[in-house]
Amino acid sequence: MLKRDLIMKIVMKFGGTSVGNGKRISQVAQILKKYHDEGNQIVVVTSALSGVTDKLLDNAFFASTKGKVSLIKKFKTELTKKHHEAVKDAIDEPKVAKEVLQILDHRIEELEKALIGICYLGELTPRSIDYISSYGERLAAPIVSGAIRSLGIASTDYTGGEIGIITSSDYGNARPLEKTYELVKNRLECILGSQVIVITGFIGENENGIVTTLGRSGSDFTASILGASLKADEIWLWKEVNGIMTTDPRIIPEAKTIPQISYSEAMELSYFGANVLHPRTIEPAMRERIPVRVKNTFNPEFSGTLVVAEKFQCKHVVKAISLIKDVTLINVSGAEMAGAIGTVARLFTALANAGVNVVMISQGSSESNISFVVSEAHAKAALKALHAEFNREIVKEINSDENVCVIAVVGAGMAGTPGIAKRVFGALGNSMINIIMISQGSSQYNISFVVREEDAFAAVRILHDEFKLYNEN
Ligand code: ADP
Ligand code: ASP
Ligand code: MG
Repeated sequence: MLKRDLIMKIVMKFGGTSVGNGKRISQVAQILKKYHDEGNQIVVVTSALSGVTDKLLDNAFFASTKGKVSLIKKFKTELTKKHHEAVKDAIDEPKVAKEVLQILDHRIEELEKALIGICYLGELTPRSIDYISSYGERLAAPIVSGAIRSLGIASTDYTGGEIGIITSSDYGNARPLEKTYELVKNRLECILGSQVIVITGFIGENENGIVTTLGRSGSDFTASILGASLKADEIWLWKEVNGIMTTDPRIIPEAKTIPQISYSEAMELSYFGANVLHPRTIEPAMRERIPVRVKNTFNPEFSGTLVVAEKFQCKHVVKAISLIKDVTLINVSGAEMAGAIGTVARLFTALANAGVNVVMISQGSSESNISFVVSEAHAKAALKALHAEFNREIVKEINSDENVCVIAVVGAGMAGTPGIAKRVFGALGNSMINIIMISQGSSQYNISFVVREEDAFAAVRILHDEFKLYNEN
């Protein structure tokens, strides 16, 4: 049972497009005012303004490679302009605008110093990448909080670290430590009251107080961590789409919103590239069984998607199709691999030690061949680790192919329903689409396979048609 029409404690996250500029931030503030005025207790998580995280990363890279302070100065001017304009459009109260501008200017100065440091050192470490990329959210949160204050509602902004998100030191992909949940609960509960707290998404800090990030699109994950800590009634993720859809609407404009989906299905979808959610978003919500809603900032009355524990049976066995681009297929082979005990363990240990995340795996029954898919960003490290580990004994060949995509067909109803794989591969075969590799998760909620990049969009369309996902769920 959901607590509809009651006063609720809700964590609401707004993505980069939702807070893309001052006008949008003021729309966000209006949405928040509505729910606040209804008596709900709201905690807000904000992403960086759209495009800012990419720009920060690009400039950190340029600083380390080109070392030109003049480029940093130019970037500083652009970044200041973008955020000052946002303040002008989002905050009507001159006193509030002035306070926010002062905070922004101070933070931009800090950022400039760090970038100039990188210019001189010519070195960019994972730790400094996290520090630099954290500024997107650190500049957004004061503006969002100021926009709320300018509507007459008390609001304060904090960083993830300040509010108690303490993580591992895996820069770029940090995980919250268990103590985070207690710490966030204690800190947030004493300041919540009737004010709307705004927290930077995406960032935390390690036990030494060094800034870490939770991975790209990590603000979803922040919202879920905060929701679980607070035992919120619901977690709402406000995006630029009408919820979780049957496939990426950029690929198939007729894609439909999925009204209700289970945690496990949403997890499968987000692991397999439906970048509508950060892959780890569901875990914290699931541990406290908190419903997650995915809603559209630009269509706020629309109900969107509700993600819950129950496996909701709809008439579709397959619920959604997702596509992961930017992956590399690696194939490791050698006749002596068959029966060589421990080869697989060595292979995956070598990959894990190199920090490589494996998206999917398939081993032929002859055991002389293992194929797996890694994200393109990890491919170089994966190949280096494998060459170092095997050095031509046992493994004879290591090949890679980056012109591939992974497609996943997801739905809880697939478990135990015979004939789904036949329909998937039959439909693709009829259209002459070649399948390079197949893997079915043991949850049976997901069949994933690899196709050539040039076949990927057609394959998604064919499957979307085959399972009639353009019909209402
Ligand atoms: P955020 O505002 O949190 O950054 P995004 O805008 O990144 O959210 O998330 C929505 C994006 O995810 C859309 O641009 C959409 O094209 C893409 N997407 C991929 N697969 C799906 C899907 N199955 N349902 C909805 N959106 C999807
Ligand atoms: N700003 C970060 C990114 O662009 C995190 C997020 O938007 O959730 O990846
Ligand atoms: Mg995003």
